[in-house]
Amino acid sequence: MEKIVSLCKRRGFIFQASEIYGGLNGVWDYGPLGTELKNNLKQYWWKVIVHDRDDVVGLDGSILTHPAALKASGHVDTFTDPMVDCRTCKARLRADQLAEKHGTKQCPNCGGKDLTEARPFNLMFQTQMGASVDPASIAYLRPETAQSIFVQFKNVLDVSRKKLPFGIAQIGKAFRNEINPRNFTFRSREFEQMELEYFCRPEQGMDLLAYWLKERIRFYEEIGINRKRLHILDVPDKDRAFYSKGTFDIEYEFPFGRQELEGVAYRTDYDLQQHIKSSGKTLDYFDEETKERFVPHVVEPSAGVDRTVLALICDAYDEDSAPDEKGKMETRIVMRFHPRMAPIKCAVFPLLKNKEALVAKARKVQALLRSHMNVFYDEGGAIGRRYRRQDEIGTPFGVTIDFETVGEKGEELRDTVTLRDRDSMKQERVAIKDLVETISSKIR
Ligand code: ATP
Repeated sequence: MEKIVSLCKRRGFIFQASEIYGGLNGVWDYGPLGTELKNNLKQYWWKVIVHDRDDVVGLDGSILTHPAALKASGHVDTFTDPMVDCRTCKARLRADQLAEKHGTKQCPNCGGKDLTEARPFNLMFQTQMGASVDPASIAYLRPETAQSIFVQFKNVLDVSRKKLPFGIAQIGKAFRNEINPRNFTFRSREFEQMELEYFCRPEQGMDLLAYWLKERIRFYEEIGINRKRLHILDVPDKDRAFYSKGTFDIEYEFPFGRQELEGVAYRTDYDLQQHIKSSGKTLDYFDEETKERFVPHVVEPSAGVDRTVLALICDAYDEDSAPDEKGKMETRIVMRFHPRMAPIKCAVFPLLKNKEALVAKARKVQALLRSHMNVFYDEGGAIGRRYRRQDEIGTPFGVTIDFETVGEKGEELRDTVTLRDRDSMKQERVAIKDLVETISSKIR
């Protein structure tokens, strides 16, 4: 894991937030490449969940949330983790994550056994709206994106005129004051979620739970996650929320252990019923055909953006060997991102930077590709070194403009380039006019 964390900082995927002030625990900033990777992931999720379907629409809800909404959802009273203090080193710890030795609970920091009783700690961040400081001005930063979907259910239904089953999707920030943020970005205090609430008739719930579990596994395969490192946990009754009739956790084998990426849960009509009770408003559905009025049930695939980015990074990291400029084998770090997810799709290199004809042609090729994908131009250093720098950030394609390209080795090779594949390191000769289609077909 250290290698991955260090690569993330060195190449600009992920930085500690407020680093120059000593860092803010459990909060992270995405650098230039991390931002591209994260955007690619979110855009692909949106494409698959919203644009490719007729039955899902989007929402972008606010982060600041009315306390009554989170009271109704149960978050104000029960969104807690059990916390204990270590009296020896004063660490605050999650009671369910204590180390245990010979049947005795211990502090994982100092090994101390003098621990307080566990008490519930609410994970929500509370803030103040407006100038006055009184209980009526309390607002919360949302602990999940889902609740704004339930609160806006009626508005979205009215404007979209969807028939059941249909879904409302949202990508956005969520905040949890985790007692122990850890494992790099895995457990953060500020993170993003990609959530779908898929509303249905009660009798469709269990089938749709199975359907969405399958769809979501397919999604992870499509973004390049190795299926062998994905696991499905059928959450047993005792560990499920009392209102859920079935929950699956999709887990990934991180270097620090098997951990949840996404929960797919059949939540019945619990959330809508809670908001009906608390707001006094009708949040139901009228079936034109059967003339029935009822509160829909919901199946929720809820994924973490940051956890998926971390899984993409862990899954892509690889080391193999490749020859250096003198032909000596050296270790190569290569991020084997699926081309769909790769932050940069193609790097463009003039073979030599002091040959004007090569540089001018390379700039033209860059301009040609730029309107179709994220490209990177690099003219500094030996070509092998330039390839290696791109391998390390997972750029799947490299295009080199050489003397053949500008017609110095015969007319038949004019306007052709070498296209190098990151994984096989094989190079093929491709006509510039075919480049866009050759690369685009692999990154879509
Ligand atoms: P965990 O048990 O790991 O705390 P959870 O079951 O509380 O997670 P959910 O409430 O189901 O998580 O949230 C849905 C998704 O949001 C999770 O599968 C995860 O991907 C993401 N998520 C939740 N908490 C965090 C966090 N602190 N940091 C990053 N991502 C998170």
